[in-house]
Amino acid sequence: MNPVIALVGRPNVGKSTLFNRLTRSRDAIVADFPGLTRDRHYGNGRLGNKPFTVIDTGGISGDELGIDAAMAEQSLLAIDEADIVLFMVDARAGVMPADEAIANHLRVNRKKTWLVVNKSDGQQEEIAIADFWALGLGDPHAIAAEHGRNVTALIEHVLEPF
Ligand code: GDP
Ligand code: MG
Repeated sequence: MNPVIALVGRPNVGKSTLFNRLTRSRDAIVADFPGLTRDRHYGNGRLGNKPFTVIDTGGISGDELGIDAAMAEQSLLAIDEADIVLFMVDARAGVMPADEAIANHLRVNRKKTWLVVNKSDGQQEEIAIADFWALGLGDPHAIAAEHGRNVTALIEHVLEPF
């Protein structure tokens, strides 16, 4: 079985953009408004000779009702299915209450979790990640999914044990 990487985080942090980059597809819909991905979306990627599976999810906002509850449910299922969770946050937005809610879940869940600070383009990495230490999930990793900044290095790191 290929290692399974789940992309979770609030809507609009760039999960689908990273999914498309990792799977070299345009399957996931990327949009300026949140909430387009309502189910789980699977794709395959490869790094060197290491294949992996990626799951894109709609996002969790922490206080779900209606359709948002369904999206959050899909995110929780994706976490269960994953070997590795990439918890994505937005360098431009800073730490939002929903990020804290998700971080609390992931800390209890004990899945191998990487804290990924997306949209770090145009910022020094140290500055982009500074706020996110407060989430209590260890080292924040700065990337820019849209431009590819640090993406390959992150995935290499993440896949090392596999
Ligand atoms: P999702 O809701 O988490 O799947 O987020 P999307 O992938 O749909 O992206 C939401 C918005 O953020 C889109 O307008 C993307 O173009 C933008 N975005 C994604 N990654 C980056 C990035 O690395 N840098 C910047 N500046 N914008 C990004
Ligand atoms: Mg999306």
